[in-house]
Amino acid sequence: MAAALRIGVLDGDDIGLEVVPAAVEVARAAAYRHKVDIDWRKLPIGRRALDTHGHTLPPSTMEELRRLDGWILGPIGHRAYPKQPNAINPHPILRKDFDLFANVRPTRSYPDIGCLHQGVDLVIVRENNEGFQPDRNMLAGSGEFRPNDDITLSVRVITRKASYRVAKAALELARARRKHMTFVHKDTVFKLGCGMFVEECRRAAAEYPDVKVDDVIVDTFAMRLVRDPQTFDVVVTTNMFGDILSDEAAGIVGGLGMAPGLCIGEGNVAMAQAVHGSAPDIAGKGIANPYSMIESTRMLLEFLGVSRGRPEAVAAAADISKAVTAALADPKARTGDIRGTGNTATFTRAVLDNLG
Ligand code: NAD
Repeated sequence: MAAALRIGVLDGDDIGLEVVPAAVEVARAAAYRHKVDIDWRKLPIGRRALDTHGHTLPPSTMEELRRLDGWILGPIGHRAYPKQPNAINPHPILRKDFDLFANVRPTRSYPDIGCLHQGVDLVIVRENNEGFQPDRNMLAGSGEFRPNDDITLSVRVITRKASYRVAKAALELARARRKHMTFVHKDTVFKLGCGMFVEECRRAAAEYPDVKVDDVIVDTFAMRLVRDPQTFDVVVTTNMFGDILSDEAAGIVGGLGMAPGLCIGEGNVAMAQAVHGSAPDIAGKGIANPYSMIESTRMLLEFLGVSRGRPEAVAAAADISKAVTAALADPKARTGDIRGTGNTATFTRAVLDNLG
């Protein structure tokens, strides 16, 4: 018998304590039905880990993660952390340390939940580890600095390696979908930075003659995403553009409750991480939409099933998709942010009830 898949569970903060357990409950039930053997490992992280282990990312958690196939990371409410050296935002470190270079963020419309358009089915693949993000684009020091009180400089890092491999990840995805990949940039202004990204996207695209490839300048893309989101399949872009555009894409299909994500890397490990933050404004009320986290976890199961040759995990992921679609169609089950009268528990229950 194949070894159990080892999956870590890191709740995160605020609504993470509600939506991560919901996602695990759904994944456990689907795995049980499809005979997927999973060894779940709960690991401390975030504000609660600061209290129990003296650090928001305890060394024991990092050690344990190295032994896993993948993990589920709940949202991190780092803006509310106390100002002290052990209270850091863990997710840039996780993305960097495990070389999780591609952040795969799907956007899909469903009927009756308040989407601005129907027929939307696109994926934004965001470069994850360089670009403008000063907390992850340097080995040491920060990508932002202030020579004097009137000047701030922010460094943007673009490398051939990161641009090429994120473009390849997007092309692979496009090949498995509608065979259309769009790369988004602003080489009209960032002639060197975006220019290099464009060169590497073209170099990668030459290896995929079966995929239709085009490019759009980022400001035009932001407009077209609102007007004609149905015209896109897989979109690849640099870190900061991808961060902003994937939230915009979420807004088109019902908001951050409808925005899943999976970070994937060289080492074949993956981290399920929804686009949304820890939503402290609604935490503890039981009303957070668990769709993003359930769907991120489903993507992890599918990824592990494909990459480890475990068809039963792929089947469990397909079962979750079907059950989620059915649950979203029930206004009494779904949450208030997507025109429902239910809550976290009713939606989770409806997904569980609709598993095959
Ligand atoms: P947020 O994404 O937490 O919330 C923005 C708005 O969307 C809020 O009104 C919130 O109630 C709503 N929302 C988010 N997720 C929802 C869900 N599942 N169901 C229903 N409504 C949902 O962004 P914010 O308020 O700017 O940030 C809160 C905290 O999260 C901050 O500490 C921030 O730094 C952190 N953050 C973390 C991540 C991450 O861990 N990946 C991402 C973004 C923000």
